[in-house]
Amino acid sequence: MINRRSFVSACGAALAAGPGFAQRGPRFDIVIRNGELRDPSTSLRRKADLGIADGKIAAIEDGIPAGQGRDEIDASGLYVTPGLVDLHTHIYHSATGLGIEADPIAARSGVTTWVDAGSFGHDQTPGFRRFIVNSSQVRIFGYVYLYPSSRNPDIDPVKYVATVAKRTGEAVEKNRDILIGIKMQVGSNMNGRYSYDFLKIARQVCDEFRIPLMAHISFAPPETEQVMALMRAGDVVTHCYNGHSLGIVDSGGKLKPGVQEARDRGVLFDIGHGLGSFNFPAAKKALAAGFVCDTISTDIYGLNVNGPVYDMPTTMTKMLHLGMSFDDVLLRSTANPARIIGRVPGLGTIAVGAPADIAILALEDGQFTLVDSQRNQEVARQRIAARVTICRGRRVVHPA
Ligand SMILES: [Zn+2]
Repeated sequence: MINRRSFVSACGAALAAGPGFAQRGPRFDIVIRNGELRDPSTSLRRKADLGIADGKIAAIEDGIPAGQGRDEIDASGLYVTPGLVDLHTHIYHSATGLGIEADPIAARSGVTTWVDAGSFGHDQTPGFRRFIVNSSQVRIFGYVYLYPSSRNPDIDPVKYVATVAKRTGEAVEKNRDILIGIKMQVGSNMNGRYSYDFLKIARQVCDEFRIPLMAHISFAPPETEQVMALMRAGDVVTHCYNGHSLGIVDSGGKLKPGVQEARDRGVLFDIGHGLGSFNFPAAKKALAAGFVCDTISTDIYGLNVNGPVYDMPTTMTKMLHLGMSFDDVLLRSTANPARIIGRVPGLGTIAVGAPADIAILALEDGQFTLVDSQRNQEVARQRIAARVTICRGRRVVHPA
């Protein structure tokens, strides 16, 4: 196999030797200069230039000479971080009720990898691949939604879900390059009295197909302890800082039974902000109890994109405001969710040879009003904002 760069430099040397040939071209597709490289997964904190070629990070050097990038970006005073990874979104646009298009928001928010958390069922998987994954500038993965109900009232709901669960597992198995696992909504407000039965069915099918489960939690019953008991290593509990009865802390601020045990087994806890699922008091209680989420995600969709969610940097800002360090926020918005996806080597990190998925971020000082899902307000003194989004070595641009 020919390494393109060594091939280019070999040709360049030959051309330079002969008369009448053009000079050697730029070494890089993009050079990002003067930024502070930050990757908490490797404790990288370095002021250096970063060169991108062929969709990969090709160089991290002090002072890459001028003219070596076809596109040059000045990141003075800014942070150059792994592209953000949002583990809980709804981006099956133009086909599902809540879905929004990822690329326009990615262009302004630094999010290079988007995971659709169950906007679609098993029978909509071909469309998800064709119309969403294949036609987006950003990377897209998904959890498939386990349909909770038939439109036919004569069909027993539990039997129906068991049938659909099998097809859902098969859909994930056949599309493992883009599908991670199964999404289940657990809560009395979602599937009524059948919610716990449906969760048990989801558990079975995930075991059968050896795929992870993402469980949305909202209102009891079932109780938190019952849900936790059914979660395994690699599964994700989303909406972990909701202020509802099916949450992880009780009203006194104590972790509910089973929560710490689930974490100890390897169950992961995700924010999934959404229209109803991020509550400042609940988040403060959980943090005071020492329970820090594993991943920060938006649960962005049409009803919350214009507030209170807006985008990933806004959700990250909320955690920064609650006392998490910038690096801890970054880790939970890059390498941690990338590891859960587990499909792309080097995703969520900055290193030579890793995919050139980059966010250029600013930490702005000022007064910023933050609103949670219940309209509680907090005023933050710092805000995370994205300046440039690069995915697979190309700038993500707003589709005109
Ligand atoms: Zn959601």
